[in-house]
Amino acid sequence: MDYTIATLGTHSALQILRGAKDEGFKTIAVCKRDHAFVYRHFGVADTIIEINSYDEFHTVEDDLIRNNAILVPHASLIAYVPPKTIESLRVPYYGNRRILFWESDRDRQRIWLEKAGLNIPKIFKDPSEIDRLVIVKFHGPKGGQGYFLARSEQEFMRKIGVSKDYVIQEYIIGIPVYIHYFYSVIRGELELMGFDRRYESNVDGIGRIPAEVQQGIDVTYTIVGNFPLFLRESLLPEVFKIGERIVEASREICSPGIYGPFCLETIVTPDLKFYAFEISARIVAGTNVFMETSPYALLKHGKPMSTGRRIALEIREAIEQGRLEEILG
Ligand code: AMP
Repeated sequence: MDYTIATLGTHSALQILRGAKDEGFKTIAVCKRDHAFVYRHFGVADTIIEINSYDEFHTVEDDLIRNNAILVPHASLIAYVPPKTIESLRVPYYGNRRILFWESDRDRQRIWLEKAGLNIPKIFKDPSEIDRLVIVKFHGPKGGQGYFLARSEQEFMRKIGVSKDYVIQEYIIGIPVYIHYFYSVIRGELELMGFDRRYESNVDGIGRIPAEVQQGIDVTYTIVGNFPLFLRESLLPEVFKIGERIVEASREICSPGIYGPFCLETIVTPDLKFYAFEISARIVAGTNVFMETSPYALLKHGKPMSTGRRIALEIREAIEQGRLEEILG
């Protein structure tokens, strides 16, 4: 029986499902009842399975297995479906599931990024240590909501409120560059899929008003969308080196390491150093700007290639070569 590609209907599902169709797969979208019409509207899913809430995801598992589905995860699947459900899924899962343990915690991420020898912003364990501009971040999938900047312990105390679950990170002044990689197990090669930058409210709007009006407005980093980016070509050697080092370090911490799509979130400073402040160990929503292709993926593959389609291509090649087990984790 042929395989089907399935994912949760949100985040980058349009891209994943469309890419799977481009590679000749049948597709399934598991959707919250009130989101299903979007996937029907765009015609990317051959089958739509509706659930009332993400907590019910486990109830569709037998359906997925019956359809010979391979589940492709994305950030929202990992954020909304309870970790226990993801851990115990019997339906084949694309990617190394155990890498989520390293991705889901900022301290563990830091160990991984340090092992890879990347530049990373300093962390302040206690507010009394704040001696420069810092960004205060909260845990959980809030997409940058509520983050704030502070220059001193006093300013931190004034803004923190009741929250205890935060991290204080050095604020790197530069420009954000989100690097999309894909490590192919089947071809044994790291590919560059593209770059994006985020559109965040209200920080990206604050420059549109005069400085005297800006005073007293707190900036926040709520992600609303993404822009495509083409990087200065002379930076590409460094981008590849960084990606290779992340893959190597991931093999040390969590064999067989990271594979498939992943994203490094960086700030590039005026002296052209990349500071990595976060890593996402699966497809990121920023790849949606290249739903057709990025220039890099077009060059590499000689035809349009989104990250969603690249996943499906990897699965197809694995099936054709009898190596599917190598990419299911
Ligand atoms: P995050 O939730 O970690 O992805 O951060 C949300 C946004 O905050 C990013 O897209 C950046 O614009 C900004 N940001 C996060 N960390 C830093 C940092 N250390 N220095 C400068 N900007 C940052």
